[in-house]
Amino acid sequence: NLSDRLERSFKILKGEGKITEINVAETLKDVRRALLDADVNYKVAKTFTDTVKKKAMGMNVLTAVKPGQLMVKIVHDELTELMGGKAVGLKLEGRPAIILMSGLQGSGKTTFSGKLANMLKAKQRKNPLLVACDVYRPAAIEQLRVVGQTVGVPVYSEPDSKNVLDIAAHAISEAKAKGHDVVIIDTAGRLAVDEQMMDEIEALKNSVRPDETLFVVDSMTGQDAVNTAKEFNDRLDFDGVVLTKLDGDTRGGAALSIRTVVTKPIKFVGTGEKMEAVDVFHPERMADRILGMGDIVSLVERAQEQFDEKQAKELEKKIRRNQFDFNDFMNQIQQIKKMGNIKDLAAMIPGVGKAIKDVDIDDNAFKGIEAIINSMTPKERIHPEIINQSRRMRIAKGSGTNIQDVNRLLKQFDQTRKMMKMVAGTSNSKMMQMANA
Ligand code: GDP
Ligand code: MG
Repeated sequence: NLSDRLERSFKILKGEGKITEINVAETLKDVRRALLDADVNYKVAKTFTDTVKKKAMGMNVLTAVKPGQLMVKIVHDELTELMGGKAVGLKLEGRPAIILMSGLQGSGKTTFSGKLANMLKAKQRKNPLLVACDVYRPAAIEQLRVVGQTVGVPVYSEPDSKNVLDIAAHAISEAKAKGHDVVIIDTAGRLAVDEQMMDEIEALKNSVRPDETLFVVDSMTGQDAVNTAKEFNDRLDFDGVVLTKLDGDTRGGAALSIRTVVTKPIKFVGTGEKMEAVDVFHPERMADRILGMGDIVSLVERAQEQFDEKQAKELEKKIRRNQFDFNDFMNQIQQIKKMGNIKDLAAMIPGVGKAIKDVDIDDNAFKGIEAIINSMTPKERIHPEIINQSRRMRIAKGSGTNIQDVNRLLKQFDQTRKMMKMVAGTSNSKMMQMANA
């Protein structure tokens, strides 16, 4: 799968301290292939990788993350940005506010109309009215009725009329009379774009002047979704996109393509047939899905947040002068702890997560160590060599540990110090390699 492939290509970057032209080119080739596999439009994928390249070049890699991981983060952030950054809500200013559905037959308009009515009612305390403007199939009105009943929202329909402009106008009058503050108009679709359907929905739009015209599209339709979106947008200049059937095994590349080609925000996603199966669109989550990289992004984010470059430089200086002491040791432990639960952290590393699931990693691993260091005097922390037998006994008592624990820590510290001195002559990146090995 994609995640494995990216990991493999990122391996090439391992050990490099900077992202360079050569290692980026290889990686981006894979990213582009991955996007195409996720059904992202060819041109969109090309533009995208070019942008990522520009951003990535020459970026310094923090010692806490590997260049490959940083690349994933850059790719992820750029995807998120392209898909609109933050979630965009509905504009509901009209009294009543009018929402018009558009899209091909089977895309999920009727289902989403019900989901939206349900959401507005439950979360925004609105009083919606559903309107049946799919007048060509007798079953369509019945379907909307069932949906309305399920979510407890009334449905306006005129089973004997074929005039959708009239039906919509009457429905809006009824909404005003009965105090409905939102009107959701469900419309007819065709299996493919056709002139009659386009004329009708365009006329309907011009007549009711909706606050929001939503284009509903089946995410499983891949590349076709882009062309359909473009044709609907050329006619309707819609306000937002609803991407349905994301519960299927689609990677969601259509989201990126549509967003890029029509530059309209994706506002909601449908994730099942049930009325609750709907979500506000989250660009970051969609980026995760397209990349299939899961939690590695949050790992890099946490590392970037916690990693203090200045502190690292100070530390390196101290190591070079063989001045690494227990205060530094404690600081390092705090750094690691700040990054979160050790097991959680390890679980984020692709390939490692599953392997360690059943392994017992002690989250309290540092507790005893911290207690021992806390029981040392400031002088002892800076000059551990003065810690003789009687001091050891005092420290053990003070920290609630025993003398063996104290001895073990002092020995470990001594070895760490020796090893650090040994590698202090080598470059930072080499040192990280050793530490990571
Ligand atoms: P319309 O022709 O545009 O009104 O589409 P419908 O609302 O009738 O939906 C067509 C089919 O897709 C129905 O069987 C729905 O149950 C199903 N459907 C709609 N949205 C979703 C979704 O998000 N996930 C899944 N799995 N099915 C959906
Ligand atoms: Mg329908």
